[in-house]
Amino acid sequence: MKTQRIVIIGGGIAGLLLAARLRRSLGGPDHARITLVDSSFTHVWKPMLHTLAAGTRDMHLDRVHFLAHAQSHGYDFEPGELVGVDRSARRVQLAPLRAADGSIAVEARELPYDWLVLALGSGINDFGTPGVCEHAYAIDRQAQAERFNTALRTQLLRAALHDTEVRVAIVGGGATGVQLAAELSDLMEQASGFGDAQMRRRLRLSLYEGAPRLLAAFPERIATASRRTLEGLGFEVHTGARVQAVSAAGVTLGNGGLQPADLTVWAAGVKAPDVLARIGGLATNRLQQLAVTPGLHTTADERIFALGDCANLQPPDAAQPLPPTAQVATQQALHLVRQLPALLRGRKAPAFVYRDLGALVSLGRYSAYGTLGASRVLPGHFLSGRVAQLGHSWLHRRHQAAVQGWGRSSLLCLTERWQRLVLPPIRLS
Ligand SMILES: Cc1cc2nc3c(=O)[nH]c(=O)nc-3n(C[C@H](O)[C@H](O)[C@H](O)COP(=O)(O)OP(=O)(O)OC[C@H]3O[C@@H](n4cnc5c(N)ncnc54)[C@H](O)[C@@H]3O)c2cc1C
Repeated sequence: MKTQRIVIIGGGIAGLLLAARLRRSLGGPDHARITLVDSSFTHVWKPMLHTLAAGTRDMHLDRVHFLAHAQSHGYDFEPGELVGVDRSARRVQLAPLRAADGSIAVEARELPYDWLVLALGSGINDFGTPGVCEHAYAIDRQAQAERFNTALRTQLLRAALHDTEVRVAIVGGGATGVQLAAELSDLMEQASGFGDAQMRRRLRLSLYEGAPRLLAAFPERIATASRRTLEGLGFEVHTGARVQAVSAAGVTLGNGGLQPADLTVWAAGVKAPDVLARIGGLATNRLQQLAVTPGLHTTADERIFALGDCANLQPPDAAQPLPPTAQVATQQALHLVRQLPALLRGRKAPAFVYRDLGALVSLGRYSAYGTLGASRVLPGHFLSGRVAQLGHSWLHRRHQAAVQGWGRSSLLCLTERWQRLVLPPIRLS
């Protein structure tokens, strides 16, 4: 049997999990050559990016370095950004790699594939709102979260030295916006211990959500409890408030009123990367997600699969397509880990079946809220407080263990605990 070239683009939750498990699932290295491509050199668990943005967590231990991971998990890693796919020649096109000074370090390249898995995730959707690109911060990628954190620390320093406030506007009351708000409160409380006892009261945070309630994709009970917690922290929560424009001065609401802000974070929705809409012949929806069949390959090409946030799968018995969540990305990756070996041997793979295991939102140190999904024990049960917080951190550890192994994951957890004893709890520089 000819060696099959499997190329996975995107080393996020779905792509890295697939790369980590596929070699073992396929058997020896003779059958297939697996290559993972990502525009970054490291992976982080994306549902934690709001803590990187706030500076309340040191992410160094959480980063997975693709080159080292590839070496110990039987695949190749190629850094690069996908800019196109030539389906007739079965080749992916990668942009030139640039050095820190902007010069081209490696020319544009092409990689051949027999099977292609697209797991590119999603980025912000500005819905064409004026000023978002120029004046708002996003926290969907490591580099974006770092950029926001740098700007935030500058504002905090200014506020402490000039005895002023820091006004933050978060646009979007989904999981990203709600979790970031709680994390910023935690940051300010902890920052009060480092030279400016007034720091917590300097934060003026407003959250704007266009829908009638927060966390539209979550059960209402989670949304109500989260709102209560945020208001208890002194934040203004505006629902049914559509932001029409963003400027350096703040956000403009539908009624024309300008709400002043020093920093605006846009977390109002996601869409898949633009490159997907440019792949000839593949169907995409208005969020640029690729239409996939229940077997997870694209509707027009059985050799191209799409997983996670960049895929649009409408299960036959469901009213809505699957949501862009870590849970969906994980289950789809595990499905392909199990089914790709059979596909390579020419067999037909069974359909992917999604199991809703529940939903969790973490409000940092303050609380967490969640519901159990289709579990055998207490289905639909509401969780809050310490139990829900432990559940949220368990999801992170489970992902870490799935891609790095339980041994390494336990060591990382221990190291992190030791670090907390000797390092400041927040990022100070
Ligand atoms: C702050 C925040 C909090 C969240 N909280 C939750 C939560 O509590 N629960 C939940 O279920 N979900 C949460 N999410 C959503 C969740 O993180 C995503 O649904 C999940 O990460 C999707 O996984 P994925 O594998 O599809 O994509 P990702 O994990 O986003 O990975 C995509 C990968 O593709 C790479 N890539 C992108 N474009 C290219 C390109 N052109 N070329 C090469 N590589 C590329 C990226 O570098 C990245 O490594 C949160 C998201 C954010 C931002």
